[in-house]
Amino acid sequence: MPSVKIADQWLRTILSELYGRRNLTRSEILEATGLNAASVSHTLRYVLNRGLLLKVGEMKVRGGRRREVFSLNTEAGYFIAVDLEGDHIRFALTNFLGDVRCRWEEPLGFRQPLDPRKLIDGIGRVVRDLENSRRSRVLAMGVSYPGLLDSEGRLTAVNLGWTRFPLVNLLKETFPWPLFLEHDKHSCVLAECWHGAAQNYRNALFLIAEGGIGLGILVDGKPLEGAREFPGEIGHWKISPEATDLCNCGQEGCLEAIASSPNIVRQYLERSGRPRSEPAGLRVTDIFEKARQQDPIARAVLERAGRMLGLALSHAIGVLNPEIVILGGDIISAEDILLPVIRDEIERRTLPLSLEGVKITVSQLGLDVRLKGAASLAFREMLEDPKLLRKVCASALPDAGVDRDAAPFSTGGVPISDR
Ligand SMILES: [Zn+2]
Repeated sequence: MPSVKIADQWLRTILSELYGRRNLTRSEILEATGLNAASVSHTLRYVLNRGLLLKVGEMKVRGGRRREVFSLNTEAGYFIAVDLEGDHIRFALTNFLGDVRCRWEEPLGFRQPLDPRKLIDGIGRVVRDLENSRRSRVLAMGVSYPGLLDSEGRLTAVNLGWTRFPLVNLLKETFPWPLFLEHDKHSCVLAECWHGAAQNYRNALFLIAEGGIGLGILVDGKPLEGAREFPGEIGHWKISPEATDLCNCGQEGCLEAIASSPNIVRQYLERSGRPRSEPAGLRVTDIFEKARQQDPIARAVLERAGRMLGLALSHAIGVLNPEIVILGGDIISAEDILLPVIRDEIERRTLPLSLEGVKITVSQLGLDVRLKGAASLAFREMLEDPKLLRKVCASALPDAGVDRDAAPFSTGGVPISDR
């Protein structure tokens, strides 16, 4: 049979659709991509022959006929994902579809600048114990960063203690893989689009509340970038002008000073009349647990935090008119306590018309959200570049499919404890 030239756009469209929806029949692929039957057939054969696509089963349809079900080969390639936000920096190796296969994390020293060697070492650890056949299939690296990355690839980020640190040069000089970077708030909202609650939505808000508070914003299917790729900084909204809670930014009454995890702990200690330093290691999850046991101080502190988060979200909903609002960060382990308060405050403060049909939910992606966003970004960006697209298609050769029966993944990483 004569070889058929496979257009990049066919590959891009079909891989992208299979990535998001996992298992599809040929007719579902036809319907989802809008491509003609011949293009789909040629492309499916091309990716099947390369081990990128697998037939994973058959589905009975009306009339007793059977349809083949296809899925991308999860082991066709791997991505390295790095998350530079939070009090730990996190590293992961993900499979082809962005599922985390092993992790590593490094604590940031309190008010100490991040030593770049920790970054290099952490990335090295997630690939260190990989067998050669898998190591050769590492396709790219995705990095989710906080702060501001300038046009020369230098990062300024308060939590890392870096000012114009040459991050991009360091990573490009040290590692051989194509490198893709995305701001952390975008990583969250993109991960939700590709793997989580925002699939099938084009306008979404992702509130992340942990050490800091920020808003990832999806408008018309794309993250809102703003003039300097720095929108969504709602943590420093003066949400309670009369409040005296002091924020890291030097002002009083910021949302972050009331509702971030360290400030929830701080308020609990202050209201209990205990010195802030007394029970070292008290975490926000401990306060959640105390609230569940009806501790009145814990309940009051969380009520206040939830009300302020709801008020801030009501403003954001009024401005941005989303279809869905997703809550992430430490909130995910206090859905039972915080979600009803936040929802109630949003309903009290938002014009009913603005709120009509808006879904409010908690992220199901857990603490991996930025890692999954970074890995997915690397996959999606590779599809857009013709040379890298062909590299993706060649990744599973020459022993495609072998890994399906391989021993379970041995990892160089450690499980990340629940915080
Ligand atoms: Zn502030």
